[in-house]
Amino acid sequence: MTKGDYYEILGVDRSAGIEDIKKAYRKMAIKYHPDRNPGNKDAEEKFKEAAEAYEVLSDPEKRKRYDQFGHEGVRSTGFQGFTNVEDIFRSFGDFFSDFGGFGDIFSGFGGGRRSSGTRTRVYQGRNLQVNLKLTLEEIQKGVTKKIKIRRMVPCSACGGTGAEGGKSKTTCTVCSGAGEIRQVQRTAFGQFVNITICRNCDGEGSVIKNVCPVCRGDSREHKEDLIQVKIPPGVSTGNYITLRGQGDAGKYNGPSGDIVVLIEEKEHEYFERHGDDILLEVSISFAQAAMGDKIEIPTLNGRAKLEIPAGIQSGKILRMRSKGLPHLNTSREGDQLIRVLVHTPTTLNSREKEIFAELAQSENALPPEKNGIFRKVKDIFH
Ligand SMILES: [Zn+2]
Ligand SMILES: [Zn+2]
Repeated sequence: MTKGDYYEILGVDRSAGIEDIKKAYRKMAIKYHPDRNPGNKDAEEKFKEAAEAYEVLSDPEKRKRYDQFGHEGVRSTGFQGFTNVEDIFRSFGDFFSDFGGFGDIFSGFGGGRRSSGTRTRVYQGRNLQVNLKLTLEEIQKGVTKKIKIRRMVPCSACGGTGAEGGKSKTTCTVCSGAGEIRQVQRTAFGQFVNITICRNCDGEGSVIKNVCPVCRGDSREHKEDLIQVKIPPGVSTGNYITLRGQGDAGKYNGPSGDIVVLIEEKEHEYFERHGDDILLEVSISFAQAAMGDKIEIPTLNGRAKLEIPAGIQSGKILRMRSKGLPHLNTSREGDQLIRVLVHTPTTLNSREKEIFAELAQSENALPPEKNGIFRKVKDIFH
């Protein structure tokens, strides 16, 4: 991955909108495109840098992380940058073909790429996003989930070719299979060869004679599938897992997109999550507070015994070590914190009134005056 600042690489300022970012990237991509700079390593490096910067800044989630945490923040999303130019074409197939006129700038370059002199256009399938809700119990242990998804797969009737009966394509009669049309132009400055993409075959050099009646030439069909995804312990809302190549199939047997599984945490009946710790509040009686007790409380692993020390004050927080959530990708574990509240009876019968009146006479029932009974309030709103 590059070390440079993504905004500087594209030459946009930090508040730039998506359209400006697109425009800036397009400019760079044209300037440093490998077709224009054959064998120029420096241009190739710049082309990669620009693609990486665009990949991050055009994605609101990645851009947010980059703004907050820099390169490190983006890396934690699983983004690794691009290792080669082919990767960039694979990722931005749609981008290049979406831009009006872009394909004409380079001969036959319209969301496709050249490979060893023959013209092949690669259609990249779309990425799919799946939201996955998990309970705290599942997050604590990690879980393997089956998810039902609906995705595009190659059409079974035509084998993903888009042609009736899976027949191979026939050579385009307009460009004679070249995929591009060359026009020689004579000007005062000399002779120029103007190369444009063939409109009849969209630069492919071949056309489908009879389209497949099942997919109507799209070459794909919808399919419902059950996929498995393994979630490691300790994830939280906003984390995501990328299943490479499991998204929509590309047209004409092109490479499939990815599935991005976005994690969402389900609200728990008792527990509130604070990072790796989980918080629980428990009410006890006057008697339990004064004399101590052993009570049963819920944990993420079922019930557990909690020792209430004699003389505990209302609001005191007790800690059960390692009963919280594991920290993602480490062996550290959070704790379960229990805030103990003393319940005050709201109604008293005459016998109870007698007992409390008697207790009120006892010096031990009074708050100790040596520390002062008034204190400053701290941390009430955190
Ligand atoms: Zn053609
Ligand atoms: Zn078909």
